[in-house]
Amino acid sequence: MDKCLFCDIIDGKIASQKHSETALVYAFYDIHPQAPLHILLIPKEHIHSILEVKENHASVLSEMVQLAQAIAKKEAVDKTGFRLVFNCGPNAGQAVDHLHLHLLAKRKLAWPPG
Ligand code: AMP
Ligand code: ZN
Repeated sequence: MDKCLFCDIIDGKIASQKHSETALVYAFYDIHPQAPLHILLIPKEHIHSILEVKENHASVLSEMVQLAQAIAKKEAVDKTGFRLVFNCGPNAGQAVDHLHLHLLAKRKLAWPPG
């Protein structure tokens, strides 16, 4: 089983600023926020990237999206808007090889992204 920086965060070996969690998903504040609200949602199980997601990950993926919905409502950005992003591979700038969903909000987000 692979282990990485985000596995160490889940295991409490590396400190993080927790936002919330569910049985399968941990949400914490990004250390280099790209928006006034920038939260990372990660599966507690190590999954390398979106390319590794299989049918048996349906529950965890669903829980990631449902937790993102709950965070958007709790942070009152459900009406103003927010962005969810999975970076995958070098061209997208994936820096940590543990699946993570970025939730960005509380500013106007440009499209197309940089
Ligand atoms: P990505 O570029 O999609 O792989 O995103 C990785 C994200 O993890 C970046 O936005 C980093 O700022 C963030 N990050 C890296 N290390 C930590 C950490 N120890 N705590 C919180 N966020 C982190
Ligand atoms: Zn990991």
